[in-house]
Amino acid sequence: MKRMRHLRRVRIRLTLWYAGSLTVMLILYAGGVFIFLRHSLFTELDGRLHEDFEVAEQMLERTTDSGIRWRASDRHEEEEIGDDSWLEVWSPEGRLLYRRESFEEEGKGLLFSVAPPGQRGYQSISLPNDIHVRALSGPYAIAGLSVAIRVARSEARLRRELNGLLLVLGLGLPVAVGIAGFGGYGLARRALAPVGQMADRARTITAEHLGERLPVVNSDDELGHLATVFNDTFARLERSFEQLRRFTSDASHELRTPLTAIRSVGEVGLREHRDENAYREIIGSMLEEADRLGRLVDSLLTLSRADAGQVKLTFERVDLAELVHDVVNHLSVLAEEKRQHVSVETAGPVYATVDRLVLRQAIVNLVDNAIKYSPDGGHVRIVVRDQPHGPALEVIDTGPGIGAEHRDRVFDRFYRVDKARSRELGGTGLGLAITRWAVEAHGGRIELESEEGKGSTFRIRLLSTQA
Ligand code: ADP
Repeated sequence: MKRMRHLRRVRIRLTLWYAGSLTVMLILYAGGVFIFLRHSLFTELDGRLHEDFEVAEQMLERTTDSGIRWRASDRHEEEEIGDDSWLEVWSPEGRLLYRRESFEEEGKGLLFSVAPPGQRGYQSISLPNDIHVRALSGPYAIAGLSVAIRVARSEARLRRELNGLLLVLGLGLPVAVGIAGFGGYGLARRALAPVGQMADRARTITAEHLGERLPVVNSDDELGHLATVFNDTFARLERSFEQLRRFTSDASHELRTPLTAIRSVGEVGLREHRDENAYREIIGSMLEEADRLGRLVDSLLTLSRADAGQVKLTFERVDLAELVHDVVNHLSVLAEEKRQHVSVETAGPVYATVDRLVLRQAIVNLVDNAIKYSPDGGHVRIVVRDQPHGPALEVIDTGPGIGAEHRDRVFDRFYRVDKARSRELGGTGLGLAITRWAVEAHGGRIELESEEGKGSTFRIRLLSTQA
């Protein structure tokens, strides 16, 4: 119901905009037509007045007693001045010398009592009894006598036509806008119908039903495009939800394993009386599991803070060669246990602007893996280079290598090539996921090259702008 109200509001708003702009356009158009017609009617009337004036110039003559009269003989010329026209001749002092009164019935007797102005010009004049006339006045000399001639015609026909037009426009315009408004409302309803369908479907999409998609009526139009964009967003959300679900269930599973181990070791230890050494061993293995649990929780925390965007990187200028030496010192005990040789190859300091702690964690994970997965007596090389497109750091081992089918996935959370072996070696399955996040948070890239049975090379490439 609420949706219907929203849609109706949009429809009404669209219709009002449409009707409003149509009204403005029609008013402008009607105004243009009216002004054009008015102008041409006046031009025509003025043309006739001009002709009247010329006829008057030819037909007026001076009488012997200094008066003015119409040359009576020529009937044809006389007829040229119609029934609805006036003619007056005034002396310069404002005395009426001659008046021809042939005009419409209602105008009889309503003659001008004021002399016309001295210069030639047209004017519209309103007389009593709602009579409107158009007059042309101008000076003229009849046989040496300077006079002012005024010819006038009624504006009645012109006004009738203009009023008729106004009436047609005045009545027609609201009707046209009304019809267009109804049509516009119907069109808006049709055009917005897919929005209603989309809203109905969107309401059924919940976390449990993220597989649902909005209907796409026509993918080429704007609404179709909108639905497609929403569908893409839903697909992304579905993928994120799925990842989150998998991650939560994997994480619970991973957390349960060491907890179960701690409990069963403890239970077995308590079952009978043992000597001190046996208890030491039991406590030692419980601590080992607790240690693994601690590492797992630390890694989970790092990743969840990274996901929430809460990790603020603190950039500083760091010598990567020195950082790698630091990591190798930190992990040397592990390498020594396996009688492995860890070498660092660098031509000198390689500077980069990085978050020291975050990048260190990424390198620790790579070197730790290299030592962990390489056999006893193996060799781990770490090469730090300053390359034209930015600093690069490679961790090369002589381990079992990673099969092509696993290469992309080893960076996924909890993905392990050999689960049992990873556990046995104390892995959490999160090391490479954290490394990838750390490198990408620096705008860098992590690459893996590997050959099964020969070894792996993990390469961190940083951006040159950070150098
Ligand atoms: P884990 O804690 O299991 O080491 P990682 O995310 O660090 O988790 O690594 C994921 C998986 O990738 C490991 O379980 C292992 O199978 C594989 N892997 C990582 N590094 C190496 C390596 N240097 N050589 C061979 N396999 C490796």
